[in-house]
Amino acid sequence: MNTDASHDAAPEIPTWLDASWQSFIERIEQDRLGHALLLAGQPGIGKQILAEAMVARLLCLQPGRVACGECTSCKLLKGGAHPDRFILTPEEDKKLINVEQSRELGAGLALTTTISPVKVALIYPAEAMNKSAANALLKNLEEPPGKTVILLLSHDPSRLLVTIRSRCQLIPAHAPERPVGLAWLKGQDNSAAGLQAQALESAGGGPMLALRWLQEGWLDTFEDFRVQLKQLIGKPLQIPGSLATFNDVEATVLWDWLSQSSAQALRECLHAVPAQWLNGAERLPAARLARLQRKADRNRKLVGGGIRQDLLLQEWLLEWARLPAREELD
Ligand SMILES: [Zn+2]
Repeated sequence: MNTDASHDAAPEIPTWLDASWQSFIERIEQDRLGHALLLAGQPGIGKQILAEAMVARLLCLQPGRVACGECTSCKLLKGGAHPDRFILTPEEDKKLINVEQSRELGAGLALTTTISPVKVALIYPAEAMNKSAANALLKNLEEPPGKTVILLLSHDPSRLLVTIRSRCQLIPAHAPERPVGLAWLKGQDNSAAGLQAQALESAGGGPMLALRWLQEGWLDTFEDFRVQLKQLIGKPLQIPGSLATFNDVEATVLWDWLSQSSAQALRECLHAVPAQWLNGAERLPAARLARLQRKADRNRKLVGGGIRQDLLLQEWLLEWARLPAREELD
């Protein structure tokens, strides 16, 4: 870990998000910042850091390009309690944001500001709002109460109500180029370079997600999974035995990983990269690998939506296991 956390300053905005930050600052400077912003991009690229920096900048009493870090507002934020800052996120152990939470936010935003020039609400992930929560929020977006900025953070804006999306100014955030992502990881983590590269690859290029996987030891788990996936090809009957281990991992993480794994298998199959884990990948049917990847992506979007994940997983693994085994190919 990088322990040089230059006193207790807010985490620095990663360089690859400079363009997103710039577009936010230009909106402020040109006085065309909307009441609602939608910060969108794939998981694990640092959107949360960017969003926190935006919140701090909006609330700061003497801001420069970024929040000053010294004023009453900045100090309150660092302490974790700021009366003009609101957060809407799923309650502990829940996956969705419910309507009561959304109404509470509306009530909070209707109050006058206490310290800062505006009130700011941060909603993440915005796609976690259930339908009634989203509709309750919509009222605040249609008739913004006083000086407020609502910042929605989303991994997948296509899952938001069109009526919500259309009322937000979009600020896109992009993953870094691979070398940039790797250099950042190197500064944060002491793992071997090969492991870091593997983590970044597995995380679809999201450095923060890769770091989390490295730190939480998921990479080892994924290595085990990869061995199991390989063994499952052509052997659907073995699925019941492997299901339990796969089910142990957080569903979004698992689908991300299964999506990346099928993508890698597809690249190996098409000779786009040399075979790293699937011997004989070149003889697997590319169309089926592509479908497996699409299914993993789709299933990731269904997490938290009330559909039983174990059933989705079983179905996905069954399709994977029905890929032709090596001996059938030889
Ligand atoms: Zn400040």
